[in-house]
Amino acid sequence: MLIVQKYGGTSVGSIERIRAVAERVAGTKKQGNEVVVIVSAMSGETDKLIDLAQQLSQNPEGREIDLLLSSGERISAALTAIAIQELGLPSMSFTGRQVGIITSGSHTTAKIERITGERVKKAIGKGIIPVIAGFQGITATSEVTTLGRGGSDLTAVAVAVALKADLCEIYTDVDGVYTTDPNIVPEAKKLDKISYDEMLELASLGAKVLQARSVEFAKIYGMPVVVRSSFNNNPGTLVVKEDKDMEKVVVSGVAYDKNQVKITVIGVPDKPGVAARLFNAIAGASIVVDMIVQNISSDGEATDISFTVPKSDSRKALIITEEIVNKLGARDVKLREDIAKVSVVGVGMRTHSGVAAKMFGTLAQHKINIMMIGTSEIKVSCIIGSKHSDLAVRVLHDAFGLGEKKGKKQDRTKRIPTK
Ligand code: ADP
Ligand code: ASP
Ligand code: MG
Repeated sequence: MLIVQKYGGTSVGSIERIRAVAERVAGTKKQGNEVVVIVSAMSGETDKLIDLAQQLSQNPEGREIDLLLSSGERISAALTAIAIQELGLPSMSFTGRQVGIITSGSHTTAKIERITGERVKKAIGKGIIPVIAGFQGITATSEVTTLGRGGSDLTAVAVAVALKADLCEIYTDVDGVYTTDPNIVPEAKKLDKISYDEMLELASLGAKVLQARSVEFAKIYGMPVVVRSSFNNNPGTLVVKEDKDMEKVVVSGVAYDKNQVKITVIGVPDKPGVAARLFNAIAGASIVVDMIVQNISSDGEATDISFTVPKSDSRKALIITEEIVNKLGARDVKLREDIAKVSVVGVGMRTHSGVAAKMFGTLAQHKINIMMIGTSEIKVSCIIGSKHSDLAVRVLHDAFGLGEKKGKKQDRTKRIPTK
């Protein structure tokens, strides 16, 4: 088999951990497989580099940030190749440029356009284990780019697709994908498998165990992905195409996201074109809006619009909104940073009713106020106060019966409610 193994920040967080990675890679190779390794920066490194830049500027240029951040993954790639060589196996580290990972030009959120992969293919042909610096690419005009936070997952899946690998293994600090973040809810249950669609929703809704775009990529190309721990040999979670069994489970997981802010425009004129002007201006600054709620105006003259954007874009979004508001003749703009989004996800929602009612009821029982609601075919999300986030995740996880039952393995099909 040709296996792509990606090791996240904690998995290469120290010299000791890098040695452990090298041992695992060597073990996989000795079992007769070809291995291609992708590494993240050592844990904390990317945040440290961002902090250095922010000490110099509140709004540093994306181009410089990309060059800066790409260095984190170069360090761990070179160190990992050295560790593998020390075990007597030939290995070579490569940057995104050397692999030919060609991306769009949107700095800090670049999209992979194609991967040439010539040098990596040659290395594999010679029995050399390639170690690729994740998270980075290069534009057609040789500008260094990065793929968004958590982007080494995307490098791994994209390289696996380009090399026609049999499997893409994502090694991290938890045993797999759980019903919710096991660091918040210890009773969370590991899933043996999860569909691409559910994983995509969980990831988009904040479950950072896999980067959302990497799941999208895997789904498009049908690449099987396994999420496993680099700290033990437990089996992990397989991310695959949906099967009939999966639809029987109504809710598969609970996700939370504390990285959004809410902007409310108060007293906007209730007439055609207002929302279009506001969101055109926001989109023009490449800011991704998530949830939007517009009230019905009671007097037919003025209404309120609330929307959420990533915390990192809050200043930019606020400035743009304030400018537009002056032109539109709205009354006021308010920013709330102390919010969190909690979501329940499951492909079974397509065929079962009552999920939203149960979610709202559970939050109400715990006196958690809902500020905004959003739904899709397979998820329900609520914006709540951030101080209630952990509690909400715990009580929802419990209400939907997702936890590991003491002493016995839970039968997932038993959770189908009677209609
Ligand atoms: P890496 O550095 O290996 O890329 P990340 O920190 O990006 O690791 O992702 C792993 C983390 O994702 C876990 O430590 C866990 O806290 C978090 N997480 C959030 N939701 C889930 C979930 N549903 N299942 C597993 N882990 C989750
Ligand atoms: N080092 C990058 C980050 O922290 C990419 C990654 O770890 O996947 O976001
Ligand atoms: Mg990650």
